[in-house]
Amino acid sequence: MINLTIGSGLNDVTTEEVEVPHWVRGTETLEMLQPHYKKVAIIGLGPSISTPSKGITAELLVVKTFKELDSLNKEDVEGKIVLFDEHYTSYGETVVYRVQAASKAARKGAVASLIRSVTPYSLYTTHTGSQHYDNDIPRIPTAAITVEDSHLLRRLFIRKNKIVLKLKMESTHDTQKSRNTIIDLKGAVDPDKYVIVSGHIDSWDVGQGAMDDGGGMMISWFAPVILNHLQLHPKRTVRAILWTAEEPGLVGAAQYLKRHINELDKINFIMESDEGTFEPLGLEVGGSKDAVCIIAEILKLFTPIDKLKVSKNPGSDIVLFINKGIPGASLMNKNDKYFRYHR
Ligand SMILES: [Zn+2]
Repeated sequence: MINLTIGSGLNDVTTEEVEVPHWVRGTETLEMLQPHYKKVAIIGLGPSISTPSKGITAELLVVKTFKELDSLNKEDVEGKIVLFDEHYTSYGETVVYRVQAASKAARKGAVASLIRSVTPYSLYTTHTGSQHYDNDIPRIPTAAITVEDSHLLRRLFIRKNKIVLKLKMESTHDTQKSRNTIIDLKGAVDPDKYVIVSGHIDSWDVGQGAMDDGGGMMISWFAPVILNHLQLHPKRTVRAILWTAEEPGLVGAAQYLKRHINELDKINFIMESDEGTFEPLGLEVGGSKDAVCIIAEILKLFTPIDKLKVSKNPGSDIVLFINKGIPGASLMNKNDKYFRYHR
């Protein structure tokens, strides 16, 4: 039987401290006061600021795109809450609305911003995630609502109803110490060269983190553990890294990169699993043409999980390393039902 406690049979388990943002949501409510009363489900986007304790009561403006907002006069936006009822294409494309909504709306004078949850699937489900405040404009509270309510508010808006919302949000924000966890199976020939497998250990507060990214973290941790259990001795060191603080913006990976910046030439390949752990199909690969050719050859040995997709951004944490010229890949899997589990 395999001992599945961390580092089981592997003595090289270390941690590296990382200072991480620590944002804690409090009560969050949204009510429609006009044209009729309705409670609207919301979820704050981290690290949103709080509203004043009495909340923000303001008229709603609904747009579909940043371009549509840009085309409006500032007077038409000032003092309002802006809802982006953006169309979902893919997570990678649509997520810019979550990340940039607050700053785009604030630039036009809005007092708060809402987005339609970034998901292709909804059972009145709110989806959180991180967002970014630009430094040169005031910060405004920002949250996601469900696809269903976003559609409802848009319909009311295009029928020329005056929509008045009351938004209340509370949160606290400071920094705390966390850690990246590193598990090594030392290489038999080149112990100073690394093949890294990784996943992130943090998750949003409203879920358990089982899908994002408990599964990815587990399969990465198991790579050196199972190789060791099977007494297989890889040429290079297989290093599993469990990143901390991916969700607030790749904080753990950025810290690792900074700390190991003089050793990057020792990383021969870096992998990640952070897009679900369903039936594996192959790899989504980033790197030079030569690297992609080598990976394509290696993948032939893995039939039937031999699919290869070349991408500029194959992953989240590992993209920091791929941008430094290190070849990398993410697990490509049959994750079309990912958003039935993801929040
Ligand atoms: Zn993730």
